[in-house]
Amino acid sequence: MRNRYAGEPFTTTDSEIAAALEHLSIPTLLLSCVHITGDPRFIRDFRQNGIFLNEIEGFMSEDDKARARAEALPVIVDYRDRGCPQPAPLPAGLVKEMMDWAACEIVPDAYLGLLAEELDLEGRDPRSPAPLEPSRAAELPVVVIGCGESGVLAGIRLAQARLPFTIIEKNVGAGGTWWENDYPGARVDVANHFYCYSFEPNNGWGHYFAEQPELRAYFGDLVAKHGLEEHIRWGTEVTDAVWDEETGTWTVTTRCADGAESTVTARAVITAVGQLNRPHLPDLEGADTFAGPAFHSAAWDHSIDLTGKRVALIGAGASGFQIAPAIAEKVAQLTVFQRTAQWMFPNPMYHDVVADGVRWALEHLPFYGRWYRFLLLWPGADKGLEAARVDPDYPDQDYAVSEINALARQMFTGWITDQVGDDQELLAKVLPDYPATGKRTLQDNGTWLSTLRRDNVDLCRDPIRRITPHAVQTEDGALREVDVIIYATGFRHTEVLWPMRVTGRAGTDLHALWGNRPYAYLGITVPSFPNFFLLYGPGAHLAHGGSLIFNSELEMRYIDACLAKLADEGLHSIEPSTQAAAEWHRATQAAIAQTVWAHPSIKHSYFKNADGEIHTVSPWRLDEYWSAVREPDWSQFVITQGVSS
Ligand code: NAP
Repeated sequence: MRNRYAGEPFTTTDSEIAAALEHLSIPTLLLSCVHITGDPRFIRDFRQNGIFLNEIEGFMSEDDKARARAEALPVIVDYRDRGCPQPAPLPAGLVKEMMDWAACEIVPDAYLGLLAEELDLEGRDPRSPAPLEPSRAAELPVVVIGCGESGVLAGIRLAQARLPFTIIEKNVGAGGTWWENDYPGARVDVANHFYCYSFEPNNGWGHYFAEQPELRAYFGDLVAKHGLEEHIRWGTEVTDAVWDEETGTWTVTTRCADGAESTVTARAVITAVGQLNRPHLPDLEGADTFAGPAFHSAAWDHSIDLTGKRVALIGAGASGFQIAPAIAEKVAQLTVFQRTAQWMFPNPMYHDVVADGVRWALEHLPFYGRWYRFLLLWPGADKGLEAARVDPDYPDQDYAVSEINALARQMFTGWITDQVGDDQELLAKVLPDYPATGKRTLQDNGTWLSTLRRDNVDLCRDPIRRITPHAVQTEDGALREVDVIIYATGFRHTEVLWPMRVTGRAGTDLHALWGNRPYAYLGITVPSFPNFFLLYGPGAHLAHGGSLIFNSELEMRYIDACLAKLADEGLHSIEPSTQAAAEWHRATQAAIAQTVWAHPSIKHSYFKNADGEIHTVSPWRLDEYWSAVREPDWSQFVITQGVSS
């Protein structure tokens, strides 16, 4: 059978191929040529000069790029004329050479296993579970809570393992955050050819950073493709989950939109509810007296036409940052209330569409999509963590936490000041006063500052005192009359699994156990909560780069291994030991304390809880986390034998 990543055979004409080449990522093109020919000269003859990759062009001279296209064209034409035969597998040493060449550095050994899985040049989906023995699997019904990116993944993997399962989803469609957040301008800020399941690449992305409808369609299509529909209860919310030690089962209570309650019994529960799902509305005096429409960014009221209205946008993190440019043109007046200025990463491609030629290459050129994924993953994964980790010897800790963090600050500052020019008043408002990457860095192609410089847009940094029926009043007493208020004030990120009630062994309440310090062993399991698994749990949020989908895949493989052990050995339950969970939490906390996110100058950040502590984000490099969750270490678990009935 043809390797699924070898590309579909094609009959494209020479001139059409030549036209497509004009749009391709040159490094990726050359890597594909190595596959087609087996000849390493395509990388050895073209040295990249970059220390940091541009995934489209590579840092090559224009002459080299033209030469690369000229040399690739006859190779691709010949490949077509030979009927597009499947390329022979490449020797491991050459693949490693290709990685080093693409990364413009020697890829450390610690990453090789992770990258081999992500590249999956064999086309075998190495993270998929083996099917379980049917009679064993039948004894282990699983409930998955949520059908966003991690819930869809859980469904696909449980189906592959042939476990019986039910997915319970409060919305009426798949996608979670990508179902709900349909505000104007909503788009992902992790490049899409990486922000998708490793085993379900989408060659047809319309944008490099897809807009919300495309993401929503991606997850919806996969529900259909993998036959998950029959397992899902839409429009149903989980309110409670209670463990029964005697039967070794969870009783999950659900509530439909009409208020009707029912229960589902399962041997295991997987929560897949995300951490950016429950809107946070600030407790502003007088908010309920506002006479006009007011809504949260994640619950956009599409019945309100903003044309010609005076709009207050309260909050400008990732959501507000996208909303303001998308609505500024149509409103009469937009006032953006921003409590803390944000650092932004210059990304000229942020709104770019994917050229037809690129989509052609993704579809047809052998392993083009796999290497393009690699080119996105490598600079986007752990380079950010290097800039976030504190170097205690760096002298000016108020300015930056390390040399590389200082370089990031200089680069980001240059990006802002170059755009603001002589407008010192605006510069004072938009230049952050804390180290770079201390909060989640936003992606920007210049639209944010060009929006703020519009005549009908005003950036207000004064704290809000109160809301009146027709205005927002700031601490200086100024009243800004508005017709509509949009709250882009984020999510109840630190309140993991809120508002569900989860009761484990001996009546232990999960939220009482956690208080405001949620923790889970490897971010996945919690002591006293048998057969209970979290996807994207505490300590697993990515603040430094990478993709949550990547993390979910690793976590789900780990959960698959736990479920297989339960089923194969007919176990009653497994849960982590208290010591294992405490030790992981301690190590995670110690590592977080050594990051810029914990910097004392950052007064407000959605990572920080009311006490200023951080418990939700992962301080680990991707290879560190990959290695920690690659397979369960059963010595860290409490395993109870025998299924009671
Ligand atoms: P956010 O980053 O938490 O931003 C919330 C904004 O509201 C901040 O400006 C915050 O100010 C402000 N705010 C909160 N409480 C306030 C209060 N009481 N008074 C005044 N201002 C207040 O939330 P978000 O923008 O919805 O984004 C959350 C996360 O969702 C992102 O970081 C990202 O992970 C994800 N997201 C991703 C995308 C994407 O992929 N492009 C898009 C949207 C969201 P402070 O900064 O001072 O706290």
